[in-house]
Amino acid sequence: MANSNKKKPITSMFSILKYAKKSTVVMIIISISALAALFFSSFHLIYENQRENLANRGRTTAFNTMNDINKFLEQGLLAVDVLSYSINSMMMRNASDYEIRSYLVSQSNTFTNALDSSFFGAYGLFNGTFLGGVGFEPESDFDPLTRPWYTAAINSNGQTTLVSPYENAQTHTTMMSISKQLSNKDDVVAVDMSLRKLQKTFEDNISDEVAALMLLDDSGKVIVHSDLNEVGKNYFEDSTGIGAKIHGILTKEISPDANYSDFEIKHDGHRYAVCYQLLNDQWYVVSLTSEDYIYKQLNYIYFILTAFSVLMIFIAIRIIVYSAKRQKSVTELDNQIKSMGDIYLSIHIINLNKDTFKEIRSNAKDLESALHQVSNHARDQIRAMMDILTQESFKPTMMSFIDLDTLNNRLANVNTITYEFVDWHNSWSRARFVVVDRNKDSSPHHVMWLIEAIDKEKREHEKLRYLSETDQMTGINNRASGSKKIQEYIASGIYGLFIIIDADKFKSVNDNYGHSTGDKVIIEIAECMKRAFRGDDIIMRLGGDEFAAYLSTVADKKTADIIIDRFFREIDSIDIPTLGDHKINVSVGCAFKRNEDDHDFDALYQHADTCLYLSKEVVGNKATFFNDEP
Ligand code: GH3
Ligand code: MG
Repeated sequence: MANSNKKKPITSMFSILKYAKKSTVVMIIISISALAALFFSSFHLIYENQRENLANRGRTTAFNTMNDINKFLEQGLLAVDVLSYSINSMMMRNASDYEIRSYLVSQSNTFTNALDSSFFGAYGLFNGTFLGGVGFEPESDFDPLTRPWYTAAINSNGQTTLVSPYENAQTHTTMMSISKQLSNKDDVVAVDMSLRKLQKTFEDNISDEVAALMLLDDSGKVIVHSDLNEVGKNYFEDSTGIGAKIHGILTKEISPDANYSDFEIKHDGHRYAVCYQLLNDQWYVVSLTSEDYIYKQLNYIYFILTAFSVLMIFIAIRIIVYSAKRQKSVTELDNQIKSMGDIYLSIHIINLNKDTFKEIRSNAKDLESALHQVSNHARDQIRAMMDILTQESFKPTMMSFIDLDTLNNRLANVNTITYEFVDWHNSWSRARFVVVDRNKDSSPHHVMWLIEAIDKEKREHEKLRYLSETDQMTGINNRASGSKKIQEYIASGIYGLFIIIDADKFKSVNDNYGHSTGDKVIIEIAECMKRAFRGDDIIMRLGGDEFAAYLSTVADKKTADIIIDRFFREIDSIDIPTLGDHKINVSVGCAFKRNEDDHDFDALYQHADTCLYLSKEVVGNKATFFNDEP
């Protein structure tokens, strides 16, 4: 129950929508779509803009960080280049180990003191001998040829190489190195650098937006990370975590001209813009910028836009429903007028004050000649029209019905008057005046003038009336209509003789000759009544084998005897083959209605009925009169 109640308004809303003008709906849908497109394109634009801003900020941070690292490493790269250049030339002129070591010591001091405290001295393998600039004396098992700084330099064919951190054999701390192969191809010069300062720079650059900064070597190993815990992990060997996602981005094909690009990743329910740059064609500086910040802002914009869109849709639906409702009433009115047009042959509106008229609708093609305008005056036009439309015998009444001068009086207390007439096609029609509005003195101002075809209706009505009034077996009045007509005669002062007739021993007819023969007898008795009595006498079947009649204007017994004798003769002459020689007899009870203060119909009936039973006592056709001498 509750369910159906809930559904109702929606169903009725949808059912009303069928009345909405298509153009209105299309216009509103287009407007909403345009608005929605505008909203979402602006939303997209804002989103893209914000994202671009954010990516730019990330890029800038990565770029700045790279600059810092560059500055940091450049010094090392430059130092190694200078060292290799000087030592190459020293070795060319066969400088002694002592000379080379002294040079390394002096340079190491210069780097550490004058340049950057991160420098931890220069060293290398020269003519197969390890020489250090900071007084490092290798242990007996020390094999420089296996050290990362050496192998990396040899593998990069004379290029200055960044060497991933490894445990420093001297200090037992984690250092990175920069090394370079010397021109004799077997020797290498290297510089150690501490990463502590870089680590600090990375940590300092973290903010609400910059979520992480990292330096990865070409194998994916995390060399520096704003989160110290990540240092030493290998992201390229990570198959599920954030490292795998970063690896995925770093191995994406990027344009060879671009040394950085940016991408988006999702991790732990957060979104990050990823920017990276390539360092010395070897290492990657990567920044992760959190997009949560813009999403917070965008969510707010999204909420407002959605609320606004919902409001717009709501307003649009209201407008559509409103216009549909209006359209519905217009459609209904139109249908009503159309259906009236189907009923009425013609509809005119008449202005009685000005004696003018206007045709609203004319439904019949063959009315055209009659409806042809002969005058601007309503009274002349209607008269001309009805003169053609009305059959001759109805014309006088019609002319007084359409008399506009008397209309005021006739419509004083009613809003409509009608006149049924036979038209020029011998069909029944109905003319009607309907008051549309009235003047201040309540006389009609505008009236509708309608002509309605009622022939079919009239015939139907007549048929129904006939059926309701007629006894189906005999075709004469049934008890109800006969009684009503007699009462109307009595009421209008028509005096006469009321008689009741009942067939004698009728049951035995049915029993001996069959029910259908009995039926024929009943029909024949009715026929005898028709033949014996006059046309304006009322005859009826009361039911079964009982009949009645009102013989109008028969007021004396003498005349009555003559008529009843005539009737008895008719009864005697009944000839039904299946009845053989059997004679039908009837008993009759009679009562006069002589003047107005006499008995009413009920009393008359009772008197006749009493007499009928007296007649029954006599064998053969017999009539008994109430209060009269036999
Ligand atoms: P009574 O002389 O006293 O009038 O005797 P009756 O046999 O005529 O008796 P009554 O008038 O009371 O009965 C009339 C009978 O007529 C009763 C019924 O069987 C029969 N009847 C009534 N209507 C019809 C009918 O439509 N067709 C036929 N065949 N018989 C009918
Ligand atoms: Mg009888």
